[in-house]
Amino acid sequence: MRNFGLVWVSGRRAGPELALALRARELWESIAADAPGTGFRPAGSLTLATNEAELRVLREAAELPDAKQRDFELLDPGGVRAVNPALRGEFLGGLYCRTDAIVEPRVTLPALRAALAGPDYEWLPGREAIEVVPYGVRDARGQWHRGDVVVLCTGANFTGVAGPHLAAAPHHLRRVRLQMMQTDPFPGVLTTSVADGDSLRYYPAYDVPSRALLAPQVPVAAASRAQLLLVQRADGGLTIGDTHSYDEPFAFDVDESAYDHLLARASALLGCELPRVRRRWAGVYSEVTGTSDLYHRSAVAPGVVLVTGPGGRGMTCSPAIAEETFPP
Ligand SMILES: Cc1cc2nc3c(=O)[nH]c(=O)nc-3n(C[C@H](O)[C@H](O)[C@H](O)COP(=O)(O)OP(=O)(O)OC[C@H]3O[C@@H](n4cnc5c(N)ncnc54)[C@H](O)[C@@H]3O)c2cc1C
Repeated sequence: MRNFGLVWVSGRRAGPELALALRARELWESIAADAPGTGFRPAGSLTLATNEAELRVLREAAELPDAKQRDFELLDPGGVRAVNPALRGEFLGGLYCRTDAIVEPRVTLPALRAALAGPDYEWLPGREAIEVVPYGVRDARGQWHRGDVVVLCTGANFTGVAGPHLAAAPHHLRRVRLQMMQTDPFPGVLTTSVADGDSLRYYPAYDVPSRALLAPQVPVAAASRAQLLLVQRADGGLTIGDTHSYDEPFAFDVDESAYDHLLARASALLGCELPRVRRRWAGVYSEVTGTSDLYHRSAVAPGVVLVTGPGGRGMTCSPAIAEETFPP
């Protein structure tokens, strides 16, 4: 899995989106009890302000009625360091969100498969679903698979079996491409995940009046619509991202200026040099837009459901989306 593994409650829009994320956060915790290999840890997050305008946005967010549900607390620099002593750089304060959590994206799916292993579960990798009929799906090898329900989760693939159904959807789906990287193990311990002030521009939770007063992003960050998100992996490495591009066709290569910017930001907040970058990659997700729906779900035939489009909240919300798709 190519994402951060952030179970990110802090940034969600007040109302149904926050409720879905909070339910998912609860479910992640119980899933991890059966599948500890998911690496779930209730680490919380710190969103750091490096100027007064960002601090005002954090203060306003911390005073919103749902701040209690998110378990927000605004901290001064000493408070931030008391929670996460690895943050030895320059900042004016931080918003601590105790409900944010982390899973290990590379091993989450194998851990779930291991937990499901048994006579009632079969994993058939490398099969492309190409045709559906009521209660059935055919793969590219010609084999039919039948069941009480077929759920097509085709992600950011807008062609093939899901294509015509997505094209007919009442809302728009778009694809978003993100650049990411991962470092060698960091010698310290990050007790929380970390976001910078640029993330205040992208997450709907921070849609407060003072957001309009934020200074423009530095040009390199504006060009790639970058925000810093930083998570320490179980092996000590740091996953660092991200950027956002919406215009297709997407570039086939990754852009180094965005990486330079993100590395400089991370290094400034940590107050030290970062370890060598071990991996760089870009990932694409699909996102519903222009609707209050939090993802796309449609019945495409009797007993066949198509689910996609959760956008940047898919890792967070997936257990709750699954629960809505298969109500208990
Ligand atoms: C770089 C990046 C970072 C992210 N970070 C986070 C994060 O920290 N927290 C968060 O909440 N969300 C995050 N997200 C979003 C999250 O990863 C997605 O929302 C989520 O993966 C969507 O899940 P999905 O199962 O719908 O689609 P996908 O994860 O895209 O999976 C769909 C799968 O179906 C396969 N497929 C497609 N068509 C067919 C077919 N016809 N037959 C068989 N297989 C098919 C695809 O190859 C793919 O493997 C991030 C996304 C990216 C790209």
